[in-house]
This record gives sequence, structure tokens and C-alpha cells, in this order.
Amino acid sequence: AKSKYDYDLVIIGCGVGGHGAALHAVESGLKTAVIEGHDIGGTCVNRGCVPSKALLAASGRVRELQNGMHLKAMGIQVGSVSYERQPIADHAINLASTIQLNLKRSLEALGVDILKGSGKLVDNHTVKYSLPGRVDVGGTVTAKDIIIATGSVPFVPPGIPIDGKTVFTSDHALKLEWVPDWIAIIGSGYIGLEFSDVYTALGSEVTFIEAVDNLMPGFDKEIARLAQRLLINPRRIDYHTGVLATKVTPGVPGVKPVVVELTDFKTKEKVDELEVDAVLVATGRAPYTQGLNLAAIDAETDRRGFVPVGEQMHVLDKSGKPVPNVYCIGDANGKYMLAHAASAQGISAVENICGRSHTLNHLSVPAACFTHPEVSFVGLTEEAAREQAEKDGYKDKIAVTKTSFKANSKALAEKEGEGMAKMIYRKDTGEILGVHIIGLHAADLIHEASNAVATKQSVQDIKFNVHAHPTLSEVLDELFKAAHVETKAPG
Ligand code: FAD
Repeated sequence: AKSKYDYDLVIIGCGVGGHGAALHAVESGLKTAVIEGHDIGGTCVNRGCVPSKALLAASGRVRELQNGMHLKAMGIQVGSVSYERQPIADHAINLASTIQLNLKRSLEALGVDILKGSGKLVDNHTVKYSLPGRVDVGGTVTAKDIIIATGSVPFVPPGIPIDGKTVFTSDHALKLEWVPDWIAIIGSGYIGLEFSDVYTALGSEVTFIEAVDNLMPGFDKEIARLAQRLLINPRRIDYHTGVLATKVTPGVPGVKPVVVELTDFKTKEKVDELEVDAVLVATGRAPYTQGLNLAAIDAETDRRGFVPVGEQMHVLDKSGKPVPNVYCIGDANGKYMLAHAASAQGISAVENICGRSHTLNHLSVPAACFTHPEVSFVGLTEEAAREQAEKDGYKDKIAVTKTSFKANSKALAEKEGEGMAKMIYRKDTGEILGVHIIGLHAADLIHEASNAVATKQSVQDIKFNVHAHPTLSEVLDELFKAAHVETKAPG
């Protein structure tokens, strides 16, 4: 029978979350449209994961060739190494365009309609879309189900004016319009850290300004300490912790410095003033939900602007009840602000739309920071796991194993022996609570652990699996083998 709606599914916003949801919807037989106000691929492809990894790849090679310690130790002599800024910037820009085009083609090939414009809810089956200044573009579409996937934008604390030249966010930094001699990075989360890797490799001095008392808040503390030894100290990165940048006065490149006023986080007293060439504001991301008109479905954003959702990605109304047929995925709901989490949530929402009840286990979603070396994790930090165990009464059941990259033949062959992996698990059940890795290709290595968590395998289930020798994956092999579970080993 002919549906009373234009589409089975309309997705507002086509970043990686919306794109992942659209592909899965078509594969599931749903007639699908996406509404996109700017560029297909959203933050990740155009202003995030993709261009940042291109900059890290190029700058990482500059560092490797310039430092070249391990190359020299393998008998390789490298002459003087220099780089040109613009081709590095072009590499990032071109990669973003290529991937944007790939995404667009994949939607077209599968028959997804791409509607240009900003989407606004009319009710739980209707979306109006338009482009400012373009009367020829726009319309109203109806759908049985709607997914909101409008993503996020850089969060800029009050008192920090962004001029895009001397005071900027990742949106500007990714264009690599210049390499300042001295740059202060506000925030030492993964975005700040990745940019510190890029800038130091290209010759900048970096100073971190971090509100929390230690760098890399949110990382497992032991891993953060090693990251400090590998990523901060040898690069002579300076840092101020426990302080806020409360006032920033932009400068003029090469003429007038940027002035940054530092205030003690606790006492709120001014403690210092820095003069630097540039400031990168990397203080997190804010959901982008402007103009969505959530009131039309009796919903509203939370205090921080995120769209509240239940476990199955349904938008929750003001009384906390799921709004029928409306879902929200990705950065806009704030559950786990990473690209692969956005698309995994999109797939999960589509599963629920198709009546195949699905709940994504966010504790199985890996995270990675693509510095040199990389840092990755899945699940809880040791601190969080111990806190949870204390609350739930199994604190004597928590155990931790650790391995070093120094014991890994492949890492040593590559002269990349710095790094460690650790696992937090329950010794009574073998449940894996968290795995953290810092070292060569940590971002690729984490998946064996995250797959084990996702499929609810205990350490006991996987500790006798065989890994090829010599590979970096043996770091995890050893980690799992070192676990002692209080159950019988398989006969
Ligand atoms: P977005 O990618 O933000 O897409 C939302 C889309 O919706 C946008 O295209 C926007 O134009 C559109 N839109 C908004 N409102 C409307 C509307 N009303 N109507 C129509 N369209 C609308 N994550 C990783 O996993 N790995 C990384 O290495 C990584 N690196 C990053 C590096 C940087 C510098 C940054 C900033 C982010 C990085 N991220 C990374 C995070 C990642 O980019 C985001 O988590 C991801 O893009 C979120 O996807 P999304 O689909 O929810 O939203």
C-alpha cells in the first residue's frame, strides 16, 4: 500500500551520524531523505577527524625525519628536513573534499534523496526546510520517522573573542593558515593534544592552559602520566593547570601579541598573564540544535543544550517520555561525542525504527587520540572502575594487568618501544571493565578489547586466542594472558 508519508525516514543533518543512519536505513528497505544545511559529512569530514588526521600524518612525518633518532639507530641518515606549510594545508583540504564527495556519491548510489537546507520540526512526522536567502530552495516533507543528527560546534567560553586569526578554534586551525612561533592551547583534551602534536612538529612552542589540576582530564591517570612523559615533556611543552583563561585580547600576527589572563580555577584570582602569538580554544564542543523547534514535539534541550534521549535514541519529551517516531543521534545528544559513536547510534536508531529492538552499549565504544604515539581506550578508567566497584560492593574483585611495548618484538623492531597497555577487570567473573593503550598504533589495537566488551566476552574467553608473531597485537595478547580469573580454565 502507498505510504501516507513522503518518506519512511527523514534525517536532519548529514554528518557522519546522519550518513551512517541513512545507509543503514536504505539497506533496511526504508525510503530515506537527508536534509543538510551545509556540507555532507559535517564536522568529522570537513572540520574534524578527517582534516586533523591529514595534518597529523604530514606533521608526524616532519617530526620523524627531523628527530630521526630511531632512523639513525637503524643506520638511516636523513639530511636537513624542511616543510612547506601550504601543501600540508592542501593535503587536509583535499582529503576532506574527496571524502565529502565519496559520502555524497554513496548516498546517491543508494537512492537517498539529499535535500539542501536547514530542517525545522513541524510535528513528529513533518519537517520544513529552507536556506536563508534562497527562496528557490526548501519545502516541507513528511516521514513516518525522523532522526535529528545536527551535531555540534566548538564551545567557546565567555571572555574569549574569536577573531579567526590570532584567537581561533579547531575550525580555523585545520586550515593551517599559519604556524605561530608560540601558541597557547586552552584545553588539554584530545583535540588540544592532537593540535599540540601538529604544532610542535611544525616548530611552534606550545603552552597548555587547563582548568583541571592535571593535563588530559578524562584519561586514565596512569596513562595520562605516561602521555605526559611521551607527548609533553620531550617537546618542551609548557603548561598551566588549575587555571582558567578568563580574558583573551586578540593580537595582530607578527605585530602585536595575544594577551591571555589566567585566573586560579578555585580562588578565581588572577594569577598570571601570557603574551603569545596565537591562542587555540579547544575547550570542547557545544551541541548545535538552534532552529530545530523542539517545542513542536513538546521537547526541550537540557541545561547544556543537548537533546535528551533514552537508551534507544528516542527523543524524550519534557516529562521524560519518549516522543513517538523522533530520534536524536550523535554529538547533538551528547552521549558520546565521537564520529563512530554518532554512526553507531544512527544504526541503532534505525534498528529500533525497523522494530528490531537495539540498545548500543556505550561502554564498548572505543576512543582514540591520534598523537604520536597514539592513545586509546574502551570502557572505564581505573579510577572510575574502582569507584563503581566501591559503590556496588565488589571492590576486592577489581584487578589490573599491564604490559609494556618494550616487551613487544614488533614495536622494538620499529624502534617504538615506548608505551603500555592496561586492563581493569573483575577477577571473579573475568568481565573486562576498561582497557587503555598508549603506544604505536594504539588506535587500531583497541578494537580487540572493544569487540570483547561489545560481545560480553570475559578475559577467560579470549585469553587463549592466538596472535600472529611478531605483531603489535601481542601487546594485548600478553595483557589478556596476564589476567587471573577465579574460574576454571577451559579443559
Ligand atoms: P556533525 O558531524 O557535526 O554533523 C552535523 C551536520 O548537521 C552538519 O553537517 C550540519 O551542517 C548539519 N546541520 C545542523 N543543523 C541542521 C539543520 N537544522 N538542518 C540541516 N542540517 C543541519 N571523532 C572521532 O571519532 N575521531 C576523531 O579523530 C575525531 N577528531 C576530531 C577532530 C576535531 C578537530 C573535531 C572538532 C572533532 C573530532 N571528532 C572526532 C569528533 C567528530 O567530528 C564528531 O563527534 C562527529 O562529527 C559527530 O557527528 P554528527 O553526525 O553527530 O555531527
